[in-house]
Amino acid sequence: MPTPPAPFTADDYRARMARAAESAAEAGLAGILIAPGPDLVHLTGYQPPAATERLTLLVLTADRDPVLVVPALEAPDAERAPGAPATTLRPWTDGKDDPYAVTAPLLTASGRFAVSDNTWALHLLGVQQALPSTTYAALTEALPMLRAVKDSHELERLAAAGAAADAAYEEILKVPFAGRRETEVAADLAALLRRFGHSQVDFTVVGSGPNGANPHHEAGDRTIEHGDMVVLDFGGLKDGYGSDTTRTVHVGEPTPAEQHIHDVVREAQQAGFEAARAGVPCEEVDRAARTVITDAGYGDLFIHRTGHGIGVTTHEPPYMIEGETLPLVPGMCFSVEPGIYLPGRFGVRIEDIVTVTAEGPRRLNNTPHDLAVVT
Ligand code: ZN
Ligand code: ZN
Ligand code: ZN
Repeated sequence: MPTPPAPFTADDYRARMARAAESAAEAGLAGILIAPGPDLVHLTGYQPPAATERLTLLVLTADRDPVLVVPALEAPDAERAPGAPATTLRPWTDGKDDPYAVTAPLLTASGRFAVSDNTWALHLLGVQQALPSTTYAALTEALPMLRAVKDSHELERLAAAGAAADAAYEEILKVPFAGRRETEVAADLAALLRRFGHSQVDFTVVGSGPNGANPHHEAGDRTIEHGDMVVLDFGGLKDGYGSDTTRTVHVGEPTPAEQHIHDVVREAQQAGFEAARAGVPCEEVDRAARTVITDAGYGDLFIHRTGHGIGVTTHEPPYMIEGETLPLVPGMCFSVEPGIYLPGRFGVRIEDIVTVTAEGPRRLNNTPHDLAVVT
């Protein structure tokens, strides 16, 4: 087992928060408010035991250093967070302080603030009542690319998570499929992800036969049969960063028709991958993959966007979807995962995480794309 990566330092978090405050100012925002969740983890390394009715809020504005408002009883935990030295802690006490009155002076009296998507309405309304002339926008609407560009330490972790998912795939090819339930293979996949270093498993899709034609199917009681196509889509978090990969396998030798559909998806995935170059709008990745499938006559059966970003969560901006015109930037990491879904018959999807570099796209998943035959 490889040694865990060096932890992020207070300076790493200081730089992230400074960059976030800068992006906010560039976007004409007065600041950013971050409640517990992936954005807070990314910016401070702090993850309270749970988001609760007690206000925890990171306040980033251009004109002052970051302030982390925390319940006094959780302040000792917050102080231990790796990014805490880069913030000023502002504890508030139950029954003594109004946490919104404590927060208000940290904000400008008016102006527009971006708020992390998962902030409780209770807390946003509390802040807003304390400062009635402020306005708010969801963080992913106002600053969709805040976490999208990964630094080299983050890329190392994403690559390691991808390699671990690849190792899980290589192992799952050795287990029997025919005669076992989807849920049993899914449990094997989850165990393999953990064996290869994942601390959290987010999903283990095993879509056999007709179940593979539903991209939202996870795993069910269906017993896998000889002759089935089986979509395997799995991922989670390793050392705080995500993996997400899909391969479609066949139980026994595929028919020429099945092989053909798989070939089309494989070609589409390759086209999407090759389109992922710096400066290219996100939607071009979707178009490149979709054109291959449409030209082959299956355009109506590719029923989802081509990809999504990945980082401290397994689904986040940027999205590879028609209408997303934001340009790709080196350091962005996202999936390229076209598929064809034949209702009542089977589905095929191939997914790799790809990162944009100055030299072109690079895959963070590297298992073969051919239609693997399993037993
Ligand atoms: Zn078959
Ligand atoms: Zn996936
Ligand atoms: Zn995905």
